[in-house]
Amino acid sequence: MANIRVRFAPSPTGYLHVGGARTALYNWLFARRHGGVFILRIEDTDADRSKPELVTAILDSLEWLGLSWDEGPFRQSERLARYREVAAELERLGHAYPCFCTTQELQAKRARAEQERRPGKYDGTCRNLTRSERERRSAEGRAAALRFRVPDSGETGFDDLVFGRVAVENREIEDFVLFRSDGNPTYHLGVVVDDLDMKITHVVRGADHLSNTPKQVLAYGALGAPLPMFAHLPLILGPDRQRLSKRHGATSVGAYREQGILPETLANFLALLGWTPPGQKEIISLDEMVREFTLEAVSKSNAVFDPEKLAWMNSEILRRLPEERLLSLVQGELESAGLWRPAFASEERERFRRTVPLLQTRARTLKDFSASGRAFFADEFDYDREAVGKFWKDPGLAGYLGELAERLSRLDPFDAGQAENCLRGLAEEKGVKAGLLINAARVALTGQAVAPGLFDVMVTLGRERVVARLRRAAKVLREGAGADVGGAG
Ligand code: GLU
Repeated sequence: MANIRVRFAPSPTGYLHVGGARTALYNWLFARRHGGVFILRIEDTDADRSKPELVTAILDSLEWLGLSWDEGPFRQSERLARYREVAAELERLGHAYPCFCTTQELQAKRARAEQERRPGKYDGTCRNLTRSERERRSAEGRAAALRFRVPDSGETGFDDLVFGRVAVENREIEDFVLFRSDGNPTYHLGVVVDDLDMKITHVVRGADHLSNTPKQVLAYGALGAPLPMFAHLPLILGPDRQRLSKRHGATSVGAYREQGILPETLANFLALLGWTPPGQKEIISLDEMVREFTLEAVSKSNAVFDPEKLAWMNSEILRRLPEERLLSLVQGELESAGLWRPAFASEERERFRRTVPLLQTRARTLKDFSASGRAFFADEFDYDREAVGKFWKDPGLAGYLGELAERLSRLDPFDAGQAENCLRGLAEEKGVKAGLLINAARVALTGQAVAPGLFDVMVTLGRERVVARLRRAAKVLREGAGADVGGAG
């Protein structure tokens, strides 16, 4: 396929949500697969609802997902003159007419139709006004919208790459508005003009637009322009099979990013909402997707968004991340949590490089590095209450941990094997189980009940920190016997 040109055309009236992100991803994959061009277009003609900061947020989310665009971002708000020109052309050709009906009149008619259970299609009041009737209304200062004159008979259809043949009787399509009476173009006009001007070959968008497409097909016909190919993507439902919405929890890309979901994960997860890669692979990289993606393999059945699968996928992908990539992602996470220290890039680089893979096996999200993994990057951390309740009960622990600190401070060499011998020796001398000391020391060193192997943790933290933390725990235990020891400080 030569010269493929596709576009992603978000309206900046909200953050980039998962449905939009999937549309962007499929367009991007299709373009990359065929060496085509991926265009970004901001559909911001609704001045009241479009916000510049949302444009920035959308671009940010796309970049985070790794979906780079080749042209744009173009803004519809900068192309108003062009839409006016095409609208005038459609009117000149007799495919559009001015409509003087006011919003109130239209609303009243729609309400009546609803009461009488009729379709609330525009009734054509202004469709056949004579020239003098139009002039009289204009002279009265009545503002006019411009409507498309839909043929009375016949049908309008198109061959969708996903949904197959879609056709609608023209008498079911209302004379839709091209230009509003406030001078703003509608979505239908903007999208057709832009897709033509931008030489879009394939319109790939959500199935919520399926019912819009016949109107746009009519507009292409009226302009004597060839149709692009259309591919509508299946709807995304929540686990309860209702259309995915805020009720189901986070829907924006930014919210998943904040939860510590990796961009690789979200892209992988979204790709599978409607597309099954060959071999039904569940974990697939962007590069592999580019090699394997086809629109023909997109299903028209609704896709179900399963947050548990997303969580599973995130820990799988996290576990497989190459070291350099993981290090940079963790750096980003620590930066946003205020835990990043420049030393991690210089004199403590080696320690940072050893710590991250240690936490990698257990982490489910990037957040785990800054939350449960906090003690690996900062000396101020809290003791998890449950861990304390469970592992700091034995009244002898203050003494044991204090003694362990003394022995470790003299240990030579300070390595995992020696540290383990040291702890086990102490347990034996005191006549307690090694597990008692291991669990208590784990809480002392990491604040957590669950952490990587204790002796690896010791080596990673280094002797000085280990000794200081054991002493601090011993002190807390002595002073706070039975009291609230939830906060370490
Ligand atoms: N601005 C429209 C939307 O956000 C784009 C629809 C289209 O791709 O044609 O849904």
